[in-house]
Amino acid sequence: QRTPLIAANWKMNGSAALVEEITRELTGLELSDTEVLICPPATLINRFSAERNFALGAQNVSHEKAGAFTGELSTDLLLEAGARFVIIGHSERRTLNFESDALIAAKLAAAVNAGLTPVLCIGETLEQRQQEKTQQVLARQLDAVYASQPELLAKSVIAYEPIWAIGTGESATPQQAQTTHAFIRQHLKQYDTQSAIRVKLLYGGSVNADNCAALFDQADIDGALVGGASLKPAEFAQICLAVT
Ligand code: 13P
Repeated sequence: QRTPLIAANWKMNGSAALVEEITRELTGLELSDTEVLICPPATLINRFSAERNFALGAQNVSHEKAGAFTGELSTDLLLEAGARFVIIGHSERRTLNFESDALIAAKLAAAVNAGLTPVLCIGETLEQRQQEKTQQVLARQLDAVYASQPELLAKSVIAYEPIWAIGTGESATPQQAQTTHAFIRQHLKQYDTQSAIRVKLLYGGSVNADNCAALFDQADIDGALVGGASLKPAEFAQICLAVT
């Protein structure tokens, strides 16, 4: 059975004050069968107390080990700061920072080899969905990472984030998300059946306290990657409690 995971992606938001607020909100929550992950901006990772009932992650990582890479952060630096997870291939980085499938594959391998759990983001644009290319796009994004290194699947978390649902207030319907998650899991079986059955598939895109329960009811949705609503501690706590 797959343990649910609720992950927060703060993007370029938050503050030391929000670190305190979210810690206070989550402390004491009965999260026994749910894993919670906060991915704040990297500068805030080590401002979290060691005493907490959730894990920390970064939003990006370099595929290089160390050296003359101004502005980049290595797996070792993230681990030392306290991160155990890292988001890789978010659509905002694919688009705004021109991250290629090949670079994303290199980053994911670097993360796994260093002992960080990658949260690989994949998803189609509205235009691709309307042209019925969703499965083709997702297959390409998955193959780019796992076709040549299928052993990395067992160490991964995958987040399906339809680009048209990110920050728009228009979530995928539970049926749309389930259909796509089922396709993803089926596609992953070609790399390794057991890993495909075990891998956590998160849904991301306008998840909030009102729509999360119906999403979590779906057989292949194992949690969420939450953007905007993760900046509101009370609402994020509600989402964490809704998954069990
Ligand atoms: P929203 O929840 O704000 O739509 O963002 C989703 C997302 O991109 C999480 O990584």
